[in-house]
Amino acid sequence: MTAEHRRVVVIGAGPSGSIASALLKRRGHDVLVLERQQFPRFSIGESLLVHCLDFVEEAGMLEAVEAAGFQYKNGAAFARNGEYADYDFGDRFTAGRPSTFQVQRARFDQILADEAAKQGVEIRYEVEITAVSEPDASGRRTLTARDVKGGQVRAIEADFILDASGFGRTLPKLLKLETPSQFPTRQAIFTHVADHIPEGAFDRNKIRVTVHPKYDDVWFWLIPFSGGRTSLGVVAAKEHLDRYAGPPDQKLRTLVAEDRGLAVLLAEAEWDTPVRELHGYAANVQSMSGPGFALLGNAAEFLDPVFSSGVTIAMRSASMAAATLHRQFSGETVDWKKEFEEPLRKGVDCFRAYVEAWYDGRFQKVVFAPGQTPEIRRMISSVLAGYAWDESNPFVKNPQRRLDSIVAWVGR
Ligand SMILES: Cc1cc2nc3c(=O)[nH]c(=O)nc-3n(C[C@H](O)[C@H](O)[C@H](O)COP(=O)(O)OP(=O)(O)OC[C@H]3O[C@@H](n4cnc5c(N)ncnc54)[C@H](O)[C@@H]3O)c2cc1C
Repeated sequence: MTAEHRRVVVIGAGPSGSIASALLKRRGHDVLVLERQQFPRFSIGESLLVHCLDFVEEAGMLEAVEAAGFQYKNGAAFARNGEYADYDFGDRFTAGRPSTFQVQRARFDQILADEAAKQGVEIRYEVEITAVSEPDASGRRTLTARDVKGGQVRAIEADFILDASGFGRTLPKLLKLETPSQFPTRQAIFTHVADHIPEGAFDRNKIRVTVHPKYDDVWFWLIPFSGGRTSLGVVAAKEHLDRYAGPPDQKLRTLVAEDRGLAVLLAEAEWDTPVRELHGYAANVQSMSGPGFALLGNAAEFLDPVFSSGVTIAMRSASMAAATLHRQFSGETVDWKKEFEEPLRKGVDCFRAYVEAWYDGRFQKVVFAPGQTPEIRRMISSVLAGYAWDESNPFVKNPQRRLDSIVAWVGR
């Protein structure tokens, strides 16, 4: 079989694949994206952080996203047993735009992929990567690409591969790079509803995270979309959800009924979309790069959905990988570990500290603590808006110390 030869092959046309491929094309490189599904396709991950729009803009796609009519989002709100706290992204430590969007991912991902294609990126849909060779003497690998409909198989040789295959985790599986996440196995059950929430009862410009009234490691998301629709989901340890009877639909309805605030908000909701579930989504890898490849977004690591950080990390990794690869193609010697993985992991580790503090209860204490100073609120708001790489923010530089000092102050 003679292999087709390409400069860069990107596996997957989700947010990280579209952003990376457009950024490389804009720098003059040949890019082929292979995507196993036909678009539009459902994907979870609908509440965006502000920082991810910086990469949408860098890739020349902001105008198209802004024109799409997605729900405006200006912050994050938290509710627990009648308590309520919110953070406004317009009032934060790190400079930048004040707002972002909440998006149906089928449409959002299609817009990004179409924008990449308009910029000259070739995207082939319904082509799945099933195998990868060891690198040859010049560091090139050959991918096996299978046509999903016809089953034909072809070989594609790439100077460099970017794995943007998300939860598919193609190269981590094929190259045995997977390591277990340190988080326990959690499960999410979710759907979309026509919410019929009365005007004024709910701030539609914010994601609302509701802590279960009895179990503080169980939480719900309400992500309002434009057009009166809302994404609704619950996250809990798998063993906890296994205790609820019935199919996922029944479990989600029972859990919603257990929180009075949510039950009231959703009293008139029409459950018109199949309920889905996902579990064991947290994952990690030994290394985010190797000879002839780098891993983007969820193909590398996924922490937890609580702070809606997934798409932002995916896009940030895409931007950093595209810049690093461009330097490599320009003849520079590049150390992927030092120049890509380590700086990327700094922000991921900051989010990790907040995820841990959410589940051990410290961050919930902070969020619902009365009397936070405006300065502290601005620093927390920056993290919640996705600026987890801005080390001039003390809540990014030293999350543990900062959170612990507030928890100690709250507990006085
Ligand atoms: C319950 C839950 C809730 C979440 N909520 C949020 C949220 O509110 N906000 C947020 O930012 N993030 C959220 N996330 C995370 C978000 O879903 C991901 O971080 C994000 O989609 C990652 O983007 P990506 O580009 O890495 O991969 P994806 O968006 O997963 O795209 C990967 C693409 O690769 C394709 N693919 C896979 N394998 C192959 C293969 N072998 N060959 C070819 N193509 C392949 C897939 O079809 C897919 O289209 C959530 C995650 C979970 C589990």
